[in-house]
Amino acid sequence: MSTSDTPAARTESHRFVAYVSPERRILWTESTGAGLPPPVDFTDPDAPSTPQVETVRNLVDAAFSTRVPQCGSISFGENGDRQTYSLKAFPDFSPNGQLKGVIQVVEGRGNASRTTIISARNREIHSVLDLTLCGIILYDPVAGRIQNVNRRVAQQTGYSLKELEGMGGETLFGEKGTRLLRSIYQRMTTAGDGMIWGQMLEVRSRSGVAERYFSSLRIIAAAPEADAPPVMLVSLDAAELDAITGSVRDGPNPRFVLEAMQDGLWEYDAINRTMHYSETYGQIFGPDGVPGGPGKPVDEWLDEVYPGESQNILHNWRQLLKVGVRYRMNYRIRDRNGAWRWIITTIHAILNDSHGRPARVLGFHMDISDAMQAEARLIDTEERFRTVFDNAGMGIAVSDTEGRLEQVNPALAIMLGRDQAELRGMWLSRFAHEDYRQEMRDSPYRLLRGGRRESMPERLFIRPDGREVWITLTATLSRHISDGARYVIVMAEDVTASRANRVKLQYEATHDVMTGAWNRWVLLERLDQHIHLAVRHRQPMTFCMCDLDNFKLVNNTYGHQAGDGVLSRFVEILSEAVRETDIVGRYGGEEFGIVFPATDKNGALHSLTRAADMLRQEQFSTGDGRRFTVTATFGIAGVSDGSDLRSVVASADEALYAGKQAGRDRVVLANDEYAWF
Ligand code: GH3
Ligand code: MG
Ligand code: MG
Repeated sequence: MSTSDTPAARTESHRFVAYVSPERRILWTESTGAGLPPPVDFTDPDAPSTPQVETVRNLVDAAFSTRVPQCGSISFGENGDRQTYSLKAFPDFSPNGQLKGVIQVVEGRGNASRTTIISARNREIHSVLDLTLCGIILYDPVAGRIQNVNRRVAQQTGYSLKELEGMGGETLFGEKGTRLLRSIYQRMTTAGDGMIWGQMLEVRSRSGVAERYFSSLRIIAAAPEADAPPVMLVSLDAAELDAITGSVRDGPNPRFVLEAMQDGLWEYDAINRTMHYSETYGQIFGPDGVPGGPGKPVDEWLDEVYPGESQNILHNWRQLLKVGVRYRMNYRIRDRNGAWRWIITTIHAILNDSHGRPARVLGFHMDISDAMQAEARLIDTEERFRTVFDNAGMGIAVSDTEGRLEQVNPALAIMLGRDQAELRGMWLSRFAHEDYRQEMRDSPYRLLRGGRRESMPERLFIRPDGREVWITLTATLSRHISDGARYVIVMAEDVTASRANRVKLQYEATHDVMTGAWNRWVLLERLDQHIHLAVRHRQPMTFCMCDLDNFKLVNNTYGHQAGDGVLSRFVEILSEAVRETDIVGRYGGEEFGIVFPATDKNGALHSLTRAADMLRQEQFSTGDGRRFTVTATFGIAGVSDGSDLRSVVASADEALYAGKQAGRDRVVLANDEYAWF
């Protein structure tokens, strides 16, 4: 059947392309073919608002907002005159991942194309598809849903037809397969109608067994009356000769099936030792053997087969002709351009000669070169990646662009105290402390907006047993070599130990380790800062120096250890008596300083009187049960014009000294009457 007997084949194809900037300006256009209605500038706010214009506008908007290709269709005209055009919008990215614009394509398509019929009429689908033993799935890769299958798929998978229709793609193809199909679909929609893609696909049966099928994929247009996106026709292992020969003999429209699969069919005439090919085969390997011609001598054909493999082929054929079984084999053959193509072929003896032996061999073949090459490249890079991934001491995860974990290496799973399997499909942020969750959730979007790489130092994660783990994260946006799909690689380093070490060092550098108060260095620095602030803004600020009374005696009477206990307790009492913003530091020995920011002397006096009372009432005891009490003396100084660190410390010290002179156990205000308050 030549395609000229369908009216659609005579329809000229038209194409209108527009490049739309993010501001929705059309930067350039290009059109081929006549007959397309004049393009409407849908970005023009004054353009008439027709349903078609709205459809295009929405599609372009969707491409901008989702950043994935969009498909749709628009129709013009009425009834018999109705013309349907396919509509596509492809986001265009700059190399650094920024969305530069959207390419919008309107294409006139044959409104009676073979494939349109397939998806348009359900009943025909089954009658035609059931002719073949090749499993055929109509799959919506965008929704990830199976729309329709033929009976063969049910046999191949063990699911019932009912179960298969509407089934989620992941059940059948797995998560990886579903993603692969979606990305192939996106690439194929870019390439336009009619493209066939060979791919090895893993299909899971109901019993959970995964089988690999050589599959051919093609996009078929959706029914014109529905506004649905095109669907993908996935044919599984289109190499079952029984079906082909059956349909050639009995099918209502056999070429339909053959062409839908677009793979080669050949026939070997064992009596005349000649090869005959179908048109598709001829397109790849040269026209010599096309049906109707004299055929190509088999030796000439064998010359085109990869050296060493032709002997193998002949041997197999002889065996086959003897016993008449079906047989499948792989080999390489030179195409008409001299390049080696990988072929998988199923051969079957179909006719017997007068001696009851098969005399003709029918072969059905598929060109799997692209799939083989792609797979080889993929295996190579994947294997290398796997080795690093599994053995790295560093945590590594691969997530999708929404942050869902697809793969987690053992190191990261251990770090988070969870199973690798449990983490898949989860957001990493879920395991983080709530303070960090939002920031981590937004990370992929920051990357997509053009960041490419982002570091998040020291984020707190909580393990299931409640233990804390501090992790430094680096997220990088990347693209799959095989299908261009984007994903995020997350590197994670457990910094809990080094962080703890650093925190300890930091603490020791700023604190008096025995009492937990700030050390002298911090105390004086903060005091200096607050004096400057107070003087500059003419605000109150108060400083207190205090010293335990007769402490030498405490030490001498109750021992140094009891003395130490008093010091620690004194710091606790001070901290309880003052506000959280006040700074308690150990000035040296049993002398302490307290900075009261934004507090006048009365405020400080109030706090310190309380501290003195608390200390006086505190009962201390020694290891051997002796009890004693302790008091302290406090000197308070404020700030005035010209105050500096030295003058304020000296003034507080003077007040303290005065307090000691006056009999200890009291709070004394310095005599700085120039203070503004
Ligand atoms: P005053 O009332 O005049 O302050 O009499 P005092 O005995 O407290 O005299 P002074 O402040 O000069 O004495 C400080 C004593 O504090 C001397 C030292 O033995 C003791 N001391 C300093 N640091 C520590 C410490 O870390 N632990 C203990 N147990 N004692 C300390
Ligand atoms: Mg003292
Ligand atoms: Mg002292």
